[in-house]
Amino acid sequence: MARYRGPVCRLCRREGMKLFLKGERCHSEKCAIEKRNFVPGQHGKDRKSKLVGYGLQLREKQKTRRVYGLLETQFRNNFEKAALQKGITGENLLNGLERRLDSVIYRMGFGTSRAQSRQIVRHGHIEVNGRKVNIPSFQVKAGDLVKVRESSRNHPTILSARDATAHAPSPSWIEVDRENLSAKIIGLPKRDELVQIPINEQLIVELYSKST
Ligand code: SF4
Repeated sequence: MARYRGPVCRLCRREGMKLFLKGERCHSEKCAIEKRNFVPGQHGKDRKSKLVGYGLQLREKQKTRRVYGLLETQFRNNFEKAALQKGITGENLLNGLERRLDSVIYRMGFGTSRAQSRQIVRHGHIEVNGRKVNIPSFQVKAGDLVKVRESSRNHPTILSARDATAHAPSPSWIEVDRENLSAKIIGLPKRDELVQIPINEQLIVELYSKST
């Protein structure tokens, strides 16, 4: 599947904030936002426009899409699914994104970024309820047991991610057993724990509502 292959830090600079796309580097002084927090491009430093209306909605959508590393079509499909569910569409959208298996592995601390976690899932290192799942968009639900597969328990990427994230708190809806490289999904994500960066999901709903 196609994916963005350009410089990742550029995406954070475009959004003007850390999106935590590169794992440990994001917490170091090497982070591009610490050094060059202005819009990329020749005239980036001079761009001081204040966003309103459509521009604001578009940036909110792009920011959220980039946090989860999705292409436009994938993100749009997530929105359409969320719109069909009961409840508040914006919250349903974030909820669905957060319950993706790659995102759950990231939240468990067995990948230092969502991109790395996606790779871990794709390479077949994860099982859910005893069955191998290599689909990053797989949706976990309450009661699921997510585990690193027996054959991957000594995988250096997973072990070093676990050590690097040892002090990061897990969300209340995931009960992580770091020793056994597993986690039980004990509920659904709560809105205030959904993402690490501020997102106004209502703006995304307004943006897509215009074009349907
Ligand atoms: Fe790069 Fe991470 Fe900093 Fe974003 S937060 S600019 S991905 S190092």
